Amino acid sequence: SVEALIPEHQRDAWKKFQAKPWVSKDDFEKEVVRHVETTLARSMFNCDETAAYAAASLAFRDRLITEWNRTQQRQTFADTKRVYYLSLEFLMGRALDNAMLNVGLKNVAKEGLSELGFRIEDIINQEHDAALGNGGLGRLAACFLDSMASLNFPAWGYGLRYKYGIFKQEIVDGYQVEVPDYWLDFNPWEFPRHDIVVDVQFYGGVRKYQDDDGKNVAVWEGGEIVRAVAYDVPIPGFNTPTTNNMRLWSSKAASGEFDFQKFNSGDYESSVADQQRAETISAVLYPNDNLDRGKELRLKQQYFWVAASLYDIVRRFKKSKRAWSEFPDQIAIQLNDTHPTLAIVELQRILIDMEGLDWDEAWAIVTNTFGYTNHTVLPEALEKWSVPLFQNLLPRHLQIIYDINMFFLQSVERKFPGDRDMLARVSIIEESQPKMVRMAFLAIVGSHKVNGVAELHSDLIRTTIFKDFVKIFGPDKFTNVTNGITPRRWLHQANPRLSELIASKTGGLGFLKDLNVLNELEKFADDKEFKKEWAEIKYANKVKLAKYIKSTTGVTVNPSALFDIQVKRIHEYKRQQLNIFGVIHRYLTIKAMTAEERKKLAPRVSIFGGKAAPGYWMAKTIIHLINNVGAVVNKDPDVGDLLKVIFLEDYNVSKAEIITPASDISEHISTAGTEASGTSNMKFVLNGGLIIGTCDGANIEITREIGENNIFLFGNLAEDVEDLRHTHNYGSHTLDPDLVKVFDLIKSDAFGDAGAFGALTGSIEDHGDYYLVSDDFHSYIKTQALVDEAYKNQDEWITKTILSVARMGFFSSDRCINEYAEMIWNVEPLPVEKESGLGKEE
Ligand code: PLP
Repeated sequence: SVEALIPEHQRDAWKKFQAKPWVSKDDFEKEVVRHVETTLARSMFNCDETAAYAAASLAFRDRLITEWNRTQQRQTFADTKRVYYLSLEFLMGRALDNAMLNVGLKNVAKEGLSELGFRIEDIINQEHDAALGNGGLGRLAACFLDSMASLNFPAWGYGLRYKYGIFKQEIVDGYQVEVPDYWLDFNPWEFPRHDIVVDVQFYGGVRKYQDDDGKNVAVWEGGEIVRAVAYDVPIPGFNTPTTNNMRLWSSKAASGEFDFQKFNSGDYESSVADQQRAETISAVLYPNDNLDRGKELRLKQQYFWVAASLYDIVRRFKKSKRAWSEFPDQIAIQLNDTHPTLAIVELQRILIDMEGLDWDEAWAIVTNTFGYTNHTVLPEALEKWSVPLFQNLLPRHLQIIYDINMFFLQSVERKFPGDRDMLARVSIIEESQPKMVRMAFLAIVGSHKVNGVAELHSDLIRTTIFKDFVKIFGPDKFTNVTNGITPRRWLHQANPRLSELIASKTGGLGFLKDLNVLNELEKFADDKEFKKEWAEIKYANKVKLAKYIKSTTGVTVNPSALFDIQVKRIHEYKRQQLNIFGVIHRYLTIKAMTAEERKKLAPRVSIFGGKAAPGYWMAKTIIHLINNVGAVVNKDPDVGDLLKVIFLEDYNVSKAEIITPASDISEHISTAGTEASGTSNMKFVLNGGLIIGTCDGANIEITREIGENNIFLFGNLAEDVEDLRHTHNYGSHTLDPDLVKVFDLIKSDAFGDAGAFGALTGSIEDHGDYYLVSDDFHSYIKTQALVDEAYKNQDEWITKTILSVARMGFFSSDRCINEYAEMIWNVEPLPVEKESGLGKEE
């Protein structure tokens, strides 16, 4: 055994003093006080909430790292296949609450903190979100890490440690203003690994020659070196000792801190220039969601992260001394979108240039290792890189891409002789001016499985953007794994009272590990007592959100009103504009009503939240309109409580945890065929809210699971979108008459200078209405009226929400991870005996 390598007396000493995870309240308090007094150099006399947060987090961090070490040892000794999840974004949110709940010690911590003079909620609220992502894609990666650890899969996440995560959004005079998010001031959850560094090369040139055996050799030389330093973040599974790793790379100058020669000669400024240039690489997250901008620094980020990660993965594999052919038996690498596609090229480069394998042998290893997840069919989001840019930054990789493409096109030519159109369509190199590398095509060619993220989306990629590849590789290469969410964060943590109620009726917290257990709630759908408790919890969650709204916007909202919520990135395809036009229509309707009629209307609070990419003018215009409508409606005495319009600033994960449990209805109203899956739709339903939505993404499967009586669907279908667009452009395009009235009101300057919104109304009136706002408007308004009616019957409404929650088991990210493991990764979990380290909280 490995233990035998260490002399017995040393082993005994190590074992005698090894770290043991604390479990009792007293031990927790002891750890907190120790960290306050020693790590933070403070005392009971000056321990404020910030220091208490720091000390409590360090106490939990120490526990996690102990389990982290044991997990890594266990996984290394077991020598089973590992999964590496490569994602340029991990939208983790806060860690302390999650850590406490996952290890089952939140109540212990609560009592301990209370004895030390603190309320646990205040301490949790001290934490800054880890916001290294834009939206759904990054949050999916975070849910997956939670599931992989909870299911005991040996799995690592690899990403970039941005110094600045997604910007903080402020609303000033109705406009979005971006403020930098410097989140690393104090981050107890990361471990810098100054011993784990990788030097990454850029630029330079390629020298080719034949060696003494006549073998072609390529050497990539010259250029610039940047150093990657690893930062590890422990990922605790729920109710298991398994604690996996998220490794984030940070960039710094390879040549040391700064150039002493320049410094000594008095050139102070340029002496730090190298350092600054290097640090720029991991400095900032690109704030675009579903948009590719093709900036060189972005490609640099991608290669930097991919090269460091693969070096690390290959180094770990080489320690096992296995034959290269066993690489895909030991390692599965999943590409979260095309951002890490260079990993395919980099592994091929390592195998042929560094390890001396021949092309075919190497390529078989590469293609059996990678899986690629596609996240969008939107043309503006499909990544392409210009060949000249590539040539300059990564000359050797460009050569390898050309070779990959040549062999691929040869195989296509053999299968479809003479079909030149096909060759042009599927070529990894687009013959444009300049030529472009099509990253999605490279990802398909270099992977053994390609998946979409919901049934409709996977069907769309098979029949539209990738249809030629289905012909070439056969249908089995393309599959679907419908997205999911972790019920630990999105039910247990965000909605503790609902979680407790469910636990009391289903025999404990087992539903958090097997979400299908929720099915047992069906029998309470007509249970009076249960429904009362259920409704009370929803009301309490709405009261909490109402308080938050009051404290952040100053607007008072009535918690008994119907809370109608749309929170997500602001995007024309997600159609917040449809929502706000609907709100204006409602406003017009209320204004035209008699006092008697008004009494019959269900009061509503329309809540919006979400960031616009800083360069996305139309999205910013939508935010501006929402705020201006709110400013008018919220103080109109004719309207009173019947309608309030709220824009919540700086939507992020920790705010989602307050907002999601408080919805009565949430909006997922993208133009059919544009939203790949959506995940917030799942979160809202799981928390006892209903949905108004289009037949798009996972809405369709949510309907399949919960039943069509429990969802408000409207609008045109994906299959009709193309024809409608064609008619807009080449036939007649008459606007919906109710929408015209809305536009007339906007144009009357009712919400401020209408000039500010001209581009928005114009995109629908004059520029083809690409997102079909007018086509869906009538159906949307009618369906909202059905929502009003349905909400009046609270008894039936509550039954609908209970039945919906009971049927949401399918959307656990545990189900997704099991599907990836079986269909794509071919990996097994590594079961663990429960150890004393875990808390036993129910
Ligand atoms: N942003 C945050 C902070 C989230 O928590 C989520 C969660 O689902 C999303 C974005 C994705 O939302 P949607 O699926 O509505 O696009």
